[in-house]
Amino acid sequence: MARYHPSEDWLTAYASGAGDEATGVLIATHLTFCSDCRKAVRELEAIGGALLDGMNMEELEGLPDAPHPPVVSRPVLKTEANGTDPAAYTQGTFSDIAPRPLLRYVFDQLGATDIDALPWKFYGPGVKRAVLFQGPDGASIRLLRSRPGAAFPAHRHGSEELTLVLKGAYRDGVDRYQTGDVQCVGETAAHQPIVEQGGECIALVVSDKPTIPLGIVARIVQRIIGA
Ligand SMILES: [Zn+2]
Repeated sequence: MARYHPSEDWLTAYASGAGDEATGVLIATHLTFCSDCRKAVRELEAIGGALLDGMNMEELEGLPDAPHPPVVSRPVLKTEANGTDPAAYTQGTFSDIAPRPLLRYVFDQLGATDIDALPWKFYGPGVKRAVLFQGPDGASIRLLRSRPGAAFPAHRHGSEELTLVLKGAYRDGVDRYQTGDVQCVGETAAHQPIVEQGGECIALVVSDKPTIPLGIVARIVQRIIGA
């Protein structure tokens, strides 16, 4: 049972279809772990439907058009649209830890689901990273795979960052995050996750802006690897 969840704002955005695709993948993956958030999303969807049903459409017809059309439907994930054969993405060890929505996304983005076949790159001592999507403005969704005891370089973020644990556990200050948990770190907060001893940790991370390393060595490493 997950103990840390996406905020109500994130769940509301997901339920209304207003969220971006990367965050939608992370939240859909969390929902496979969390019956409480599944229930919350169902209730939010019902509220949204009731509000639409209660609108007087004749009154709305006299109003000028909104400057931007409102988002009224959940964005269709590429993975839902292309109808990939499920048999193709149940191969390989990643299927042991990645729930179906994430597995489909990984297969669609990278064409592989065997965890050792993903394009892992050095991200820090004991930490590897595989980018699933990177936008031109710095938004990204990536997997991090860390050895037991690995400490991330201290960093902060240019935007809110969501981390979903898929395997293992890490501590960040006094909080402990394990499989199914979502950590939300604010735009200005600095932190340094440390993976627990006893097993590797694999997590899915979504943010709108790149991370900002706090130490000089970390900044040099980031410049070299283009993180
Ligand atoms: Zn939850």
